[in-house]
Amino acid sequence: MKKPELTGAGWLGPRDEMDRASHRFGKCSQCKEIVCVEKAVADGPSTQRETSKMLHNAFDTHVKLNHPENYNLAASRKPNNYDT
Ligand SMILES: [Zn+2]
Repeated sequence: MKKPELTGAGWLGPRDEMDRASHRFGKCSQCKEIVCVEKAVADGPSTQRETSKMLHNAFDTHVKLNHPENYNLAASRKPNNYDT
């Protein structure tokens, strides 16, 4: 059984100016569905980490809903348990 993973993560927006990128997205390795979140804060590049965390939470939900048989597998290999 293959674990779903978040692949091809990137930013929507001009790559040269991270400030102007508004969304972060990645693709589910299992069903190829795009998971996308809005940037945490509207300005400043320092929110990258925050936004990446949001994307991982969104992907977590995606796995739970779409691949429940793999959810425990995916959750158990998560490096951190993020607080809300
Ligand atoms: Zn999926």
